[in-house]
Amino acid sequence: MAKTSKANTKEKKEKKSTITKKQNQSNEKESKLLVKESEEPLDPVEKSVISKLVNLYTLQSIDSQIDKIRIIRGELPLEVQDLQDEIEGLKTRLNNYIDEIGEKEKSIASYKHGIEQSRLLIEKYKENLNKIRNNREYESILKEIEYQELEIELYEKKIREAKAKIEQLKNDIEKLKKEIASKEEILKEKEAELQEIVKETEKEEKYLLQLREEAWNNIDDRYKKAYQRIRSSVKNGLAIVKIERDACGGCFSKIPPQQQLEIKMHKKILICEYCGRILVDDYIAEKVKINELFASADTEN
Ligand SMILES: [Zn+2]
Repeated sequence: MAKTSKANTKEKKEKKSTITKKQNQSNEKESKLLVKESEEPLDPVEKSVISKLVNLYTLQSIDSQIDKIRIIRGELPLEVQDLQDEIEGLKTRLNNYIDEIGEKEKSIASYKHGIEQSRLLIEKYKENLNKIRNNREYESILKEIEYQELEIELYEKKIREAKAKIEQLKNDIEKLKKEIASKEEILKEKEAELQEIVKETEKEEKYLLQLREEAWNNIDDRYKKAYQRIRSSVKNGLAIVKIERDACGGCFSKIPPQQQLEIKMHKKILICEYCGRILVDDYIAEKVKINELFASADTEN
């Protein structure tokens, strides 16, 4: 962090938002920020290549930050949506349980009706017993009575089962109601968080887009096209990458020592032979102060 002590005290005095702070910092550094002239004497070719690479890497850094913001803003709405869907699903299940209780109660009523019917029949059969003429009729009526008694037992069993099921459903409903309530609580928090993030990031994005315009104007048309072409063809949006641990920062393929040396010499703009991204060395990356600006903004948050 190359913040001067002056900047530090100034920062402490300011109780403004992070965004304002960032804007102030950027204004102070702006001229150095985009094309920082080297102290070392350079030949014109090297000077020109360094300047191009610094401008490209600056643009990339700004775009990466904008991408990051948009991803954050994109993920939270999805989370909120998922939660809303989940709650919707739980409510549907709750309604199904309630309907099922209604069905069970209807069934119980019909079983009770069945019991009534069987009892009436039994009474009728018992009256008939008085009018019997022979043993066979007597046996037959007794069988009918026995049958209706079994029917009653069966209905009673079904009623017990239905009542047990209703009890279980009522328990499930209680649990479900609690689950819905707690999910709704989380949803409320997430929605508030989302609103806050949208508000925050919109400010930050606006500021970054201003920076981007400036960075964009510092780049030759030829490289603008190359940048857009590479950026749109790769998944992570990185068109300009730093060499990290001897590998391409975009696709992580090893960069041969000879090519690394050429990149360090800044005689021409070189690309990763595996993914086609433009490569920069630490020397270039360190010149792009925008990274530092974001890093310090992040730790302050
Ligand atoms: Zn690569």
